[in-house]
Amino acid sequence: MCVNTCSLKDGETGYCGVRKNVRGELVELAGSPEKAFVEWYYDYLPTNCVGDWVCPGGSDSGYPKYSHCKGPERGYKNLAVFYSACSFDCLFCQNWHFRHPQNRQAAHSAQELADAVDEGTSCICHFGGDPTPQIQHALKASELARERRRGEILRICWETNGSMHPRWLDRAAQLSFESGGCVKFDLKAHDENVHIALTGVTNRRTLENFRHLAALSLKRPEPPFLIASTLLVPGYLDEIEISALSRFIAELNPAIPYTLLGYYPHFYMTDLPRTSWKHAQRCVDICREAGLLRVKLGNPHLFS
Ligand code: SF4
Ligand code: SF4
Repeated sequence: MCVNTCSLKDGETGYCGVRKNVRGELVELAGSPEKAFVEWYYDYLPTNCVGDWVCPGGSDSGYPKYSHCKGPERGYKNLAVFYSACSFDCLFCQNWHFRHPQNRQAAHSAQELADAVDEGTSCICHFGGDPTPQIQHALKASELARERRRGEILRICWETNGSMHPRWLDRAAQLSFESGGCVKFDLKAHDENVHIALTGVTNRRTLENFRHLAALSLKRPEPPFLIASTLLVPGYLDEIEISALSRFIAELNPAIPYTLLGYYPHFYMTDLPRTSWKHAQRCVDICREAGLLRVKLGNPHLFS
């Protein structure tokens, strides 16, 4: 069943790659190994990735099994893969441009994406939007790329709202686990009502999926397999919310790295201020009090 709240009319195509046919049935158009709305580019390492402070691409972690060198992997690159679809509808979406019809990307096969992985590529990051609605394409591309680079370093990573079906999540997680990559969950809120207000959908599956992967994170402590982040939206992600999220993570595995990101007004929420330094620092303290061992502020240039 579709988790989106959009109201497609018969014959229309949604940004998750789903179309409603003339009988009113939902038909999967994209997200297959043959086709997805996706684009990609190379990012030289170390890059501005939410996991760069603990991952093999940007830190000492994972060398020599998962990284070419000790410390940031200079001279190598990340293949950043942007999927033009999302299963959430966040009021503050920073990548909302993909929703405009004039920005719709061309469709590409999984093989085309896998072919973009060259000898200088040491990691792939699937993000967007979100890889969730077109996950079958992302999985196939990753498997093809890993097959071609068998025995070499090629980490598979995901940056996601965490809402994918557990069956797909397990396959995505396995690829990351084996390759030295990570799954980065963007936890929008702990309270379900706050989550619905901000994203249009419940967070039940996201929290359940996170809990599921946290068990696996205990089996591969380094480099960290599971990473969390939260955007500090003023007035919504307050001390109560951060306290609840950080306790949730700490009870599962206190070594899970947690990045708190500065908010910048976007999309429908341009009337909010940026995150203040005072609020951000207080949230870091709250996370440490909850028992989390690795907490970081991300996008510090955005704090006011
Ligand atoms: S894609 Fe993965 S390995 Fe590469 S920089 Fe990001 S978190 Fe690190
Ligand atoms: S999950 Fe990310 S890409 Fe999707 S609507 Fe929310 S902010 Fe935008």
